[in-house]
Parts: sequence; C-alpha cells; structure tokens
Amino acid sequence: MDDCIFCKILKGEIPSKKAYEDEQVYAFYDIEPKAPVHILVIPKQHLPGAAAITPENSAVVGHIFEVIAQLTREMGLTDYRVVTNNGADAGQTVHHLHFHILAGGKLGEMA
Ligand code: AMP
Ligand code: ZN
Repeated sequence: MDDCIFCKILKGEIPSKKAYEDEQVYAFYDIEPKAPVHILVIPKQHLPGAAAITPENSAVVGHIFEVIAQLTREMGLTDYRVVTNNGADAGQTVHHLHFHILAGGKLGEMA
C-alpha cells in the first residue's frame, strides 16, 4: 500500500527502531510510547486491521502471538498487555494491522 506509513517503514522509507524481524513479521518501537516499553508488531502483508482477518490470512496472527511471547521473554518482560485497535472510534490511526505490546510498569485498567 503506497500511502500506508507501516508499509513505508517495512520498505525502509521511514526509519524505525527494530525490535524483531522475520519473513512474516516486523516489530519496532512506537514513536510515541504510552508505556515504558511500547512495541508494535505488524505483519509484512498489508492488512487494514483486525476486521480484515480471515481464514485465509489468520495464520500470521498466531505467528505474531508466538513472536510476542518470545520477544517479551527475551526482554525479561513477564507482565505486559497486547492491544489492537480496530476502527477510528477504537483509536485506530494507522490502517495496517498492528499489535501494541505495552509493558515496563503498572498499566492502568482498560478492559
Ligand atoms: P493505533 O492508534 O492503534 O492505530 O496505533 C498506531 C501507533 O503507531 C501509535 O501508537 C503511533 O504512536 C504509532 N506510530 C505512528 N507513526 C509511527 C512511526 N513512524 N514509527 C513508530 N510508531 C509510529
Ligand atoms: Zn501497510
């Protein structure tokens, strides 16, 4: 997607601080952290959001959660929150599926 900032990050057109990468997934630090540790995990395939997950593409979501478990373990993070916002009213501002990892301290109640 030409006008997607996360696709531009994947292409290296916008700089990012990498936390993890493999052939399916990229993880990088959020530019405006909402917790002491705030990492975004995205599929390399452009999907607009959680509502676009289908039986055909859902395998990457399972893989993303494996990556989240591995990455947090390696970072010594036992307590963390995973969030995905779908739609403007839920706070989605970037329309490329992404999972926020929030950690590094006591998180406020949300759900
Ligand atoms: P959401 O509001 O759920 O769509 O999350 C989008 C997230 O992307 C926000 O937390 C932003 O701070 C973050 N973000 C936007 N642009 C960048 C960027 N260039 N590098 C890193 N994070 C970004
Ligand atoms: Zn994209």
